[in-house]
Amino acid sequence: MRYYSTRRQSPLVSLAEAVLKGLPEDNGLYMPERLPQLSSQFIEQLPSLSFEEIAYGVASALLGEDIPPEELRRMVQKTLGFDAPVVWLSQQTGILELFHGPTLAFKDFGARFMAQAMSYFLPGDGRPLHILVATSGDTGSAVAHGFLGVEGITVAVLYPKGKVSPFQEKQFATLGRNITALEIDGTFDHCQALVKQAFLDKELNQKLRLSSANSINISRLIPQAFYYVYAWAQAVRTRKQEKIYFVVPSGNFGNLTAGVLARQMGLPVAGFIAATNVNDVVPRYLQTGKYEPRPSIPTISNAMDVGNPSNFARLAEWFPTWEAMRQNLYGYAFTDEQTRQAMRRVYQQYGYMMDPHGAVGYLAWEAFCQEYQPANAVGIILETAHPVKFSEVVTQTLGQTPTVPERLQHLMTLPKLSIPLPKDFATFKNFLMQYYEK
Ligand SMILES: *Cc1c(COP(=O)(O)O)cnc(C)c1O
Repeated sequence: MRYYSTRRQSPLVSLAEAVLKGLPEDNGLYMPERLPQLSSQFIEQLPSLSFEEIAYGVASALLGEDIPPEELRRMVQKTLGFDAPVVWLSQQTGILELFHGPTLAFKDFGARFMAQAMSYFLPGDGRPLHILVATSGDTGSAVAHGFLGVEGITVAVLYPKGKVSPFQEKQFATLGRNITALEIDGTFDHCQALVKQAFLDKELNQKLRLSSANSINISRLIPQAFYYVYAWAQAVRTRKQEKIYFVVPSGNFGNLTAGVLARQMGLPVAGFIAATNVNDVVPRYLQTGKYEPRPSIPTISNAMDVGNPSNFARLAEWFPTWEAMRQNLYGYAFTDEQTRQAMRRVYQQYGYMMDPHGAVGYLAWEAFCQEYQPANAVGIILETAHPVKFSEVVTQTLGQTPTVPERLQHLMTLPKLSIPLPKDFATFKNFLMQYYEK
């Protein structure tokens, strides 16, 4: 299958090119040329299949022309390795827990599959691929873990000294092997500037094969469709007759786009509810028909502080008019105060600790039910991160500190392996050439 750019100013490319390039030259986003349909037989079988079998079924429909079955199965196996259970708060409300991966957030699914895909498509000329990623905390750890131990690929994580939490730092700066943490004496913007300049530097690009692990890479999006299908299967097991809605806490709208992808492939979903904090460009668009990107506003659900969602262009491919978008998508936005209240309410009512992002989703499901009073409907709210990732906000709000999952407790005792660097490009460039050139 070939992939086209949403801006249509660059040529169609193979899956290999889309994965290795990430972004087309025209700054659009890659989209699959066709949407293969899941067979009705597969959909009927879903409730009796495992997560891995479901993921493989979805992956082979989309990628089966380009990746042989045994290879694809191995990639799916390496990506999953942890569950995505739906936990029911009530008859109508389920929580899809996407935080059982190594860095406790849904981005693990995308990062791990992208690592496998890049490794598979890497030309076999023996030249390694060096990934550079700037992080203010979370992207870096998901990418670092995703690529940990992947043959032929290295990752350098650039992060601002003293500006990430100790827990975040431990998540990417203790790994070693093919992962190098670079502690930059500067801000996140400096880190990002160094990475950008590296991609533009001719000499560096001649000596080293460089790549970014871009968040809009198509191979990061596709695996996110797996857990929608799996969650749907879990819901149908116990709630056969009901209409299933997905509620998605959204920032760049990649997660929601992956859900819509699953539906475009034939998964019977009743609707999608986009939940945002006050960075509400999409809910506002759904209401007014005007798409007006704005600078982002800081909130307690900060992974959704996005003023110009990058995946909106993909949604617009499937829903090109305002009417089409409104028929398929509902949108609600909430303040930090409302979010904190929801966290308290859910904790008091159900004893369930939500992180601020999931709580925004909970509010959107309440608002949707109030507005439409849907009969025989269940809402599956995507819990995008473990509450311990936002420990400070959760503790402040609930007066109760979330516990670090056991498998991560050893992290704080591991030695930090970062290499300190100043923020000037010449030093950074020399470092890369010496460190990576054999
Ligand atoms: C990245 C992230 C989001 C937003 O996801 P998008 O795909 O950008 O919409 C929501 N919650 C958490 C915890 C995240 O890390």
